[in-house]
Amino acid sequence: MKIDILGVLFDNLTMEEAVATGTRLAEEEGFHYVVTPNPEIVNLARASRDYGELLNGADLVLPDGIGILYAGRILNTPLRERVPGIDFAAGLLKELAAREKRLYLLGAKPGVAQEAGVRLAADYPGLMICGTGDGYFTDSEAAVQAMREAEADVAFVCLGAPKQERWMAEFGPQSGVRLMVGLGGALDVFAGRVARAPRIWQRLGLEWLYRLLHQPSRIGRMAKLPLFLVTAWRARRGSSANEKG
Ligand code: UDP
Repeated sequence: MKIDILGVLFDNLTMEEAVATGTRLAEEEGFHYVVTPNPEIVNLARASRDYGELLNGADLVLPDGIGILYAGRILNTPLRERVPGIDFAAGLLKELAAREKRLYLLGAKPGVAQEAGVRLAADYPGLMICGTGDGYFTDSEAAVQAMREAEADVAFVCLGAPKQERWMAEFGPQSGVRLMVGLGGALDVFAGRVARAPRIWQRLGLEWLYRLLHQPSRIGRMAKLPLFLVTAWRARRGSSANEKG
């Protein structure tokens, strides 16, 4: 079942169900992609119709960030739980390792994907890191060709939004990969360059505050969150006025 949050259709799954679905998609014939929209991404989709369409065209649309959960509650269509991209990736890595799958890491500054690869290979025995590439390439054809030659089953595409979603939808089908996941800054975390919030902050839904305290430059991006919730509130009032009228 899909939940419509301001035009983006989210899969209403628990983390466990999302990981099981991702694992299945990684084994299924054909190309699949996963997106993990946060409020910023939903805002981008509201401003650009074709971007919204390619988000909704993904095989899995997972709610990253507490803001999406709040919006679901405001709209009276609550989602079951938050499925942050990075936690989804960690769950998927365990399953991919158990199946000895080949993973390609694309994105972040030069050297980061490689560093992340070394750590992931050590943390998930059985997982095969078949190639890496930084996210500042200019030749997408060459980047996708490298992925193809690496014979990857799965690729983590971490180019930031909206670039990563557009890239997956356009170049994914020629990559030979079965599953691509758009994961924003995840490689920086896997490489140990950016620390995640302690669990207690995550559980309290305060990861955004932790990130803000450590990267104050994010304030401009985060200031848009309250506005996002106001938009959800207005949309709800608009739809209940329609029902009455
Ligand atoms: N990035 C990239 N290529 C680009 C622009 C960004 O590889 O052209 C990377 C950037 O280095 C970072 C990630 O994309 O690793 C985006 O991180 P951000 O914190 O913006 O993502 P979030 O996790 O907040 O979605």
